[in-house]
Amino acid sequence: MSEKKSNGQARYDELAYEKKNYFEEASEAERTAMFDYAEGYKAFLDEAKTEREACDAAVRMAKEKGFTEYKFGDKLAAGDKKYFVNRGKSVVVFRVGTEDLEKDGLRIIASHIDAPRVDIKQNPLYEQSGMCFLKTHYYGGIKKYQWTAIPLALHGVVVLKNGQKVEIKVGESEDDPVFYINDLLPHLGAEQMSHNGTKIIEGEQLNVVVGGMPYADKDVKKKIKLTVLNYLNREYGMCEEDFLSAELCAVPAFRARDIGFDRALIGAYGHDDRVCAYPALTAVLNNESRHTVLAMLVDKEEIGSEGNTGMQSKIYEDLMEEICIALGASFRKVRYASKCLSSDVTAAYDPNFDTVYEKMNAAMLSCGTCMSKFTGSRGKSGSNDANAEFVGEVRAMFDRAGVVWQTAELGKVDAGGGGTVAKYLANLNIDTVDLGVPVISMHAPWELISKADLYSNYRAFIAFMA
Ligand code: MN
Ligand code: MN
Repeated sequence: MSEKKSNGQARYDELAYEKKNYFEEASEAERTAMFDYAEGYKAFLDEAKTEREACDAAVRMAKEKGFTEYKFGDKLAAGDKKYFVNRGKSVVVFRVGTEDLEKDGLRIIASHIDAPRVDIKQNPLYEQSGMCFLKTHYYGGIKKYQWTAIPLALHGVVVLKNGQKVEIKVGESEDDPVFYINDLLPHLGAEQMSHNGTKIIEGEQLNVVVGGMPYADKDVKKKIKLTVLNYLNREYGMCEEDFLSAELCAVPAFRARDIGFDRALIGAYGHDDRVCAYPALTAVLNNESRHTVLAMLVDKEEIGSEGNTGMQSKIYEDLMEEICIALGASFRKVRYASKCLSSDVTAAYDPNFDTVYEKMNAAMLSCGTCMSKFTGSRGKSGSNDANAEFVGEVRAMFDRAGVVWQTAELGKVDAGGGGTVAKYLANLNIDTVDLGVPVISMHAPWELISKADLYSNYRAFIAFMA
């Protein structure tokens, strides 16, 4: 029996706000659903470590749900289920709703499918001191020292001299070899460890070991290099010059795994931002809506949303305009009525590094997907800073659907900051707010999230589409 609350306590509970832990709030059935949903997510993570692979996986999943490819100029009608692929690196999955598009607008969930990694240079291959290496240039914001002494897989494409495109993916099967970036033994590491963290491993030291066996011919000078070249030629039809037109990258060879005795958490490479892309995708694939809904899975967020596959590209604006034309609606009117969740991860409060967070406004693990009214750094510089009216509208959507969610900003004021694709959509005159899953060790080769937050994110997207 619980004791009766005092009047003051009852009044306090009525008026005060506190975050809730979604695991605690969830029913038994909901907790089972969380764990089931996480299985599909982990499989997606293992299948899709690069933007190309995530794009392919999304297309495969869309086809399985009866979605068909859309190209500019195609006719559209209410009920249509479509996907639009941009250069194999980004994909927009959408459903045409029944509402008047000019009045109702589009409901957009925008996420990204690229992740920090170590890209292979265009002239990368050399042999030195019994080892053969690939030179690299890192992609996105990494702590370089974290990428040494772990198993790495090589993923990507090579466009051969004859124009043929070949795919490479080595290090993901149990019987595949993996690759490696060297670090220094502590016995000789005193000088190295006296450096600032950014200098412990320098960019030009991120060289990937890819071989060690000399070719059996005494006359050849670079015997190990020849062994590697010979292998690449036999397997992929490559010669050294073909690296010039290749996009290869080293990613962690780890698979997604449950973390903890209770399996509440997931460790994986690339939660940022697949932990939003997968829920965005599955929300649109699995749920009908009277609204016209789009899940955008875009590339290049980690390097500033640049290029023709990044969110700043005109192609996404063109796509929305083409959809409007096909449905006989004015794009200007439609975008003014549109709503967008810019869905990217945020920093989860980490008690082991508490000095960089302001706890009242930090994302707490397992307290649900996290809305950030603004991102940016210093005085909100570079931020979209959503309007209170729109935040209120989205808040009401979540509350109606019983979504457990929270709000936060990334770190304490002046501790650092960040930003994502929100502002590019907001610049189009679309109401936009950031929403995403809190991540521990963001941008590390293996990041951590909570299954509760993953599922909360999915439920939030469904509420947004309803
Ligand atoms: Mn991100
Ligand atoms: Mn990121």
